[in-house]
Amino acid sequence: MHNVVVTGGSRGLGLAIAKMAVGSGFRVIAIARTMTEELAAAMAANPDAMAFQAWDLAEIGGLAALARQLRDTFGPIFGLVNNAGIGTAGILSTMPDAKIEQLIRLNVTSPLTLTKYLVRPMLAAQAGRVVNVSSIVASTGYSGLSVYSATKASLIGFTKSLAREVGQVGVTVNAVAPGFVETDMTHGMDPGAWAQIIRRSALRRMATADDVAAAVGFLLSDNARNITGTVVTIDAGNTA
Ligand code: NAP
Repeated sequence: MHNVVVTGGSRGLGLAIAKMAVGSGFRVIAIARTMTEELAAAMAANPDAMAFQAWDLAEIGGLAALARQLRDTFGPIFGLVNNAGIGTAGILSTMPDAKIEQLIRLNVTSPLTLTKYLVRPMLAAQAGRVVNVSSIVASTGYSGLSVYSATKASLIGFTKSLAREVGQVGVTVNAVAPGFVETDMTHGMDPGAWAQIIRRSALRRMATADDVAAAVGFLLSDNARNITGTVVTIDAGNTA
Protein backbone atom coordinates (compact mmCIF):
# COMPACT_ATOMS: atom_id res chain seq x y z
CA MET A 1 0.00 0.00 0.00
CA HIS A 2 1.54 3.37 -1.06
CA ASN A 3 1.82 6.01 1.66
CA VAL A 4 0.44 9.49 1.00
CA VAL A 5 1.05 12.38 3.42
CA VAL A 6 -1.74 14.96 3.54
CA THR A 7 -0.81 18.10 5.46
CA GLY A 8 -3.76 19.78 7.15
CA GLY A 9 -5.61 16.47 6.84
CA SER A 10 -7.68 16.93 9.98
CA ARG A 11 -10.54 18.97 8.52
CA GLY A 12 -11.77 20.92 5.49
CA LEU A 13 -10.19 20.14 2.13
CA GLY A 14 -7.40 18.08 3.69
CA LEU A 15 -9.80 15.69 5.41
CA ALA A 16 -11.78 15.25 2.17
CA ILE A 17 -8.50 14.56 0.32
CA ALA A 18 -7.41 12.09 3.01
CA LYS A 19 -10.69 10.16 2.81
CA MET A 20 -10.60 10.11 -0.98
CA ALA A 21 -7.02 8.81 -1.00
CA VAL A 22 -7.95 6.01 1.40
CA GLY A 23 -10.86 5.14 -0.91
CA SER A 24 -8.37 4.92 -3.79
CA GLY A 25 -6.24 2.38 -1.94
CA PHE A 26 -3.55 4.59 -0.39
CA ARG A 27 -2.48 4.62 3.24
CA VAL A 28 -2.84 8.22 4.40
CA ILE A 29 -0.89 9.99 7.10
CA ALA A 30 -2.78 13.15 8.02
CA ILE A 31 -0.74 15.90 9.65
CA ALA A 32 -2.14 18.77 11.72
CA ARG A 33 -1.59 20.29 15.13
CA THR A 34 -4.78 18.88 16.60
CA MET A 35 -6.93 15.83 16.05
CA THR A 36 -10.59 16.38 15.14
CA GLU A 37 -13.66 14.22 15.76
CA GLU A 38 -14.15 13.86 12.01
CA LEU A 39 -10.62 12.57 11.45
CA ALA A 40 -10.91 10.23 14.46
CA ALA A 41 -14.12 8.80 12.96
CA ALA A 42 -12.48 8.31 9.56
CA MET A 43 -9.50 6.61 11.22
CA ALA A 44 -11.78 4.31 13.22
CA ALA A 45 -13.50 3.27 9.98
CA ASN A 46 -10.13 2.61 8.26
CA PRO A 47 -7.70 1.60 11.01
CA ASP A 48 -5.07 0.14 8.64
CA ALA A 49 -5.26 2.87 6.04
CA MET A 50 -5.28 6.08 8.05
CA ALA A 51 -2.90 7.53 10.57
CA PHE A 52 -2.48 10.88 12.29
CA GLN A 53 0.78 12.64 13.05
CA ALA A 54 0.48 15.70 15.29
CA TRP A 55 2.99 18.35 14.18
CA ASP A 56 3.27 22.10 13.90
CA LEU A 57 4.27 22.61 10.28
CA ALA A 58 5.08 26.27 10.90
CA GLU A 59 8.17 25.14 12.85
CA ILE A 60 10.45 24.98 9.84
CA GLY A 61 13.42 23.71 11.84
CA GLY A 62 11.46 20.57 12.75
CA LEU A 63 10.53 19.48 9.23
CA ALA A 64 13.61 17.33 8.63
CA ALA A 65 12.80 15.46 11.84
CA LEU A 66 9.19 15.07 10.71
CA ALA A 67 10.32 13.53 7.41
CA ARG A 68 12.61 11.11 9.30
CA GLN A 69 9.85 10.18 11.71
CA LEU A 70 7.39 9.53 8.88
CA ARG A 71 9.89 7.29 7.10
CA ASP A 72 10.80 5.40 10.28
CA THR A 73 7.16 4.89 11.31
CA PHE A 74 5.45 4.28 7.97
CA GLY A 75 8.19 3.43 5.45
CA PRO A 76 8.68 5.13 2.08
CA ILE A 77 6.36 8.02 1.24
CA PHE A 78 4.94 7.86 -2.31
CA GLY A 79 2.79 10.98 -2.28
CA LEU A 80 2.75 14.38 -0.61
CA VAL A 81 -0.27 16.70 -0.68
CA ASN A 82 0.78 20.14 0.54
CA ASN A 83 -2.63 21.29 1.73
CA ALA A 84 -2.13 22.87 5.18
CA GLY A 85 -2.48 26.61 5.05
CA ILE A 86 -3.93 29.68 6.70
CA GLY A 87 -6.10 32.24 4.98
CA THR A 88 -5.53 35.34 7.09
CA ALA A 89 -7.32 38.22 5.39
CA GLY A 90 -6.34 41.87 5.73
CA ILE A 91 -5.61 45.03 3.84
CA LEU A 92 -1.88 45.08 3.09
CA SER A 93 -1.31 48.65 4.25
CA THR A 94 -2.46 47.83 7.77
CA MET A 95 -1.42 44.20 8.07
CA PRO A 96 1.07 43.60 10.90
CA ASP A 97 4.47 42.37 9.68
CA ALA A 98 4.12 39.34 11.96
CA LYS A 99 0.94 38.25 10.11
CA ILE A 100 2.67 38.59 6.74
CA GLU A 101 5.57 36.51 8.00
CA GLN A 102 3.21 33.89 9.48
CA LEU A 103 1.34 33.49 6.18
CA ILE A 104 4.56 33.10 4.20
CA ARG A 105 6.03 30.66 6.73
CA LEU A 106 3.11 28.21 6.79
CA ASN A 107 1.86 28.62 3.21
CA VAL A 108 5.23 28.79 1.42
CA THR A 109 8.38 28.01 3.41
CA SER A 110 6.81 25.00 5.11
CA PRO A 111 5.54 23.14 2.00
CA LEU A 112 8.75 23.90 0.07
CA THR A 113 10.91 22.62 2.91
CA LEU A 114 8.79 19.54 3.62
CA THR A 115 8.79 18.71 -0.09
CA LYS A 116 12.58 18.99 -0.10
CA TYR A 117 12.86 16.28 2.53
CA LEU A 118 10.11 14.01 1.19
CA VAL A 119 11.03 14.24 -2.49
CA ARG A 120 14.51 12.82 -1.86
CA PRO A 121 13.24 9.28 -1.22
CA MET A 122 10.83 9.65 -4.17
CA LEU A 123 13.85 10.40 -6.38
CA ALA A 124 15.63 7.35 -5.02
CA ALA A 125 12.54 5.21 -5.64
CA GLN A 126 12.07 6.79 -9.09
CA ALA A 127 8.38 7.24 -8.39
CA GLY A 128 6.26 9.72 -6.51
CA ARG A 129 3.62 12.39 -6.56
CA VAL A 130 3.54 15.92 -5.15
CA VAL A 131 0.29 17.90 -5.23
CA ASN A 132 0.28 21.51 -4.03
CA VAL A 133 -2.96 23.17 -2.97
CA SER A 134 -2.99 26.67 -4.46
CA SER A 135 -6.10 28.79 -5.06
CA ILE A 136 -7.87 30.67 -7.87
CA VAL A 137 -6.95 33.92 -6.11
CA ALA A 138 -3.33 33.27 -7.16
CA SER A 139 -4.37 34.35 -10.65
CA THR A 140 -7.61 36.33 -10.18
CA GLY A 141 -6.74 38.50 -7.20
CA TYR A 142 -9.14 39.35 -4.35
CA SER A 143 -9.16 42.53 -2.30
CA GLY A 144 -8.04 41.78 1.26
CA LEU A 145 -6.11 38.67 0.26
CA SER A 146 -2.97 40.13 -1.32
CA VAL A 147 -0.51 38.34 0.97
CA TYR A 148 -2.48 35.10 0.91
CA SER A 149 -2.68 35.34 -2.91
CA ALA A 150 1.08 35.87 -3.09
CA THR A 151 1.65 32.67 -1.10
CA LYS A 152 -0.71 30.69 -3.33
CA ALA A 153 0.86 32.09 -6.53
CA SER A 154 4.28 31.08 -5.28
CA LEU A 155 3.12 27.46 -5.08
CA ILE A 156 2.36 27.54 -8.79
CA GLY A 157 5.87 28.71 -9.68
CA PHE A 158 7.23 26.06 -7.33
CA THR A 159 5.08 23.38 -8.97
CA LYS A 160 6.22 24.19 -12.48
CA SER A 161 9.94 24.41 -11.72
CA LEU A 162 10.07 21.39 -9.43
CA ALA A 163 8.19 19.36 -12.06
CA ARG A 164 11.12 20.04 -14.39
CA GLU A 165 13.70 19.18 -11.70
CA VAL A 166 12.29 15.79 -10.77
CA GLY A 167 10.43 14.70 -13.89
CA GLN A 168 13.27 12.73 -15.42
CA VAL A 169 12.91 10.04 -12.77
CA GLY A 170 9.14 9.83 -13.04
CA VAL A 171 8.09 11.98 -10.08
CA THR A 172 5.17 14.27 -10.94
CA VAL A 173 4.42 17.67 -9.38
CA ASN A 174 1.08 19.36 -9.91
CA ALA A 175 -1.15 21.93 -8.25
CA VAL A 176 -4.86 22.34 -7.73
CA ALA A 177 -6.50 25.75 -7.62
CA PRO A 178 -9.82 25.55 -5.80
CA GLY A 179 -12.32 28.36 -5.88
CA PHE A 180 -14.01 29.38 -2.63
CA VAL A 181 -15.17 26.25 -0.78
CA GLU A 182 -17.10 26.11 2.49
CA THR A 183 -14.65 25.13 5.26
CA ASP A 184 -13.51 26.60 8.59
CA MET A 185 -11.19 28.87 6.59
CA THR A 186 -14.06 30.59 4.78
CA HIS A 187 -16.55 30.35 7.65
CA GLY A 188 -16.57 34.07 8.37
CA MET A 189 -17.28 35.13 4.78
CA ASP A 190 -20.25 37.42 4.23
CA PRO A 191 -23.30 35.51 2.82
CA GLY A 192 -23.54 38.22 0.16
CA ALA A 193 -20.05 37.31 -1.07
CA TRP A 194 -21.08 33.65 -1.42
CA ALA A 195 -24.17 34.63 -3.42
CA GLN A 196 -22.01 36.76 -5.71
CA ILE A 197 -19.52 33.91 -6.26
CA ILE A 198 -22.39 31.57 -7.22
CA ARG A 199 -23.93 34.17 -9.52
CA ARG A 200 -20.59 34.66 -11.30
CA SER A 201 -19.84 30.95 -11.71
CA ALA A 202 -20.62 29.25 -15.01
CA LEU A 203 -22.33 26.36 -13.23
CA ARG A 204 -24.20 28.69 -10.82
CA ARG A 205 -22.99 26.73 -7.82
CA MET A 206 -19.90 26.28 -5.63
CA ALA A 207 -17.31 23.55 -5.85
CA THR A 208 -17.12 21.38 -2.73
CA ALA A 209 -14.27 19.85 -0.74
CA ASP A 210 -15.13 16.51 -2.36
CA ASP A 211 -14.70 18.03 -5.83
CA VAL A 212 -11.22 19.22 -4.86
CA ALA A 213 -10.44 15.80 -3.37
CA ALA A 214 -11.49 14.07 -6.59
CA ALA A 215 -9.04 16.19 -8.60
CA VAL A 216 -6.22 15.50 -6.15
CA GLY A 217 -7.12 11.80 -6.27
CA PHE A 218 -6.74 11.81 -10.04
CA LEU A 219 -3.34 13.56 -9.82
CA LEU A 220 -2.15 10.95 -7.29
CA SER A 221 -3.33 8.07 -9.47
CA ASP A 222 -1.49 6.11 -12.12
CA ASN A 223 -3.84 7.59 -14.71
CA ALA A 224 -2.07 10.92 -14.17
CA ARG A 225 1.44 9.52 -14.69
CA ASN A 226 2.00 11.74 -17.74
CA ILE A 227 0.63 14.91 -16.21
CA THR A 228 3.12 17.18 -14.48
CA GLY A 229 3.74 20.88 -13.93
CA THR A 230 0.08 21.71 -14.39
CA VAL A 231 -2.64 23.45 -12.39
CA VAL A 232 -6.14 21.99 -12.17
CA THR A 233 -8.83 24.57 -11.38
CA ILE A 234 -11.87 23.40 -9.38
CA ASP A 235 -14.27 26.32 -9.10
CA ALA A 236 -17.56 25.44 -10.85
CA GLY A 237 -16.50 27.80 -13.61
CA ASN A 238 -16.01 30.87 -11.42
CA THR A 239 -12.95 31.90 -13.44
CA ALA A 240 -14.16 30.52 -16.78
P1 NAP B 1 -9.05 24.74 7.12
O1 NAP B 1 -10.42 24.15 7.14
O2 NAP B 1 -8.78 25.96 7.94
O3 NAP B 1 -8.00 23.59 7.51
C1 NAP B 1 -6.64 23.89 7.61
C2 NAP B 1 -5.87 22.64 7.94
O4 NAP B 1 -4.48 22.99 8.05
C3 NAP B 1 -6.28 22.02 9.26
O5 NAP B 1 -6.12 20.62 9.20
C4 NAP B 1 -5.27 22.63 10.23
O6 NAP B 1 -5.13 21.83 11.40
C5 NAP B 1 -4.00 22.60 9.35
N1 NAP B 1 -3.01 23.54 9.85
C6 NAP B 1 -3.13 24.89 10.01
N2 NAP B 1 -2.02 25.38 10.56
C7 NAP B 1 -1.16 24.34 10.76
C8 NAP B 1 0.14 24.22 11.33
N3 NAP B 1 0.81 25.26 11.79
N4 NAP B 1 0.70 22.97 11.38
C9 NAP B 1 0.03 21.89 10.93
N5 NAP B 1 -1.20 21.96 10.37
C10 NAP B 1 -1.79 23.17 10.30
O7 NAP B 1 -8.63 25.14 5.64
P2 NAP B 1 -9.18 24.62 4.22
O8 NAP B 1 -10.21 25.57 3.76
O9 NAP B 1 -9.46 23.17 4.26
O10 NAP B 1 -7.89 24.91 3.31
C11 NAP B 1 -6.96 23.90 3.00
C12 NAP B 1 -6.04 24.43 1.90
O11 NAP B 1 -6.83 24.77 0.77
C13 NAP B 1 -5.27 25.69 2.28
O12 NAP B 1 -3.97 25.63 1.76
C14 NAP B 1 -6.05 26.80 1.59
O13 NAP B 1 -5.23 27.91 1.31
C15 NAP B 1 -6.51 26.08 0.35
N6 NAP B 1 -7.71 26.67 -0.26
C16 NAP B 1 -8.87 26.75 0.44
C17 NAP B 1 -9.99 27.31 -0.18
C18 NAP B 1 -11.32 27.46 0.52
O14 NAP B 1 -12.19 28.17 0.00
N7 NAP B 1 -11.54 26.81 1.66
C19 NAP B 1 -9.91 27.75 -1.52
C20 NAP B 1 -8.70 27.62 -2.19
C21 NAP B 1 -7.61 27.08 -1.56
P3 NAP B 1 -4.68 22.48 12.83
O15 NAP B 1 -5.27 23.85 12.89
O16 NAP B 1 -5.18 21.54 13.86
O17 NAP B 1 -3.19 22.48 12.81
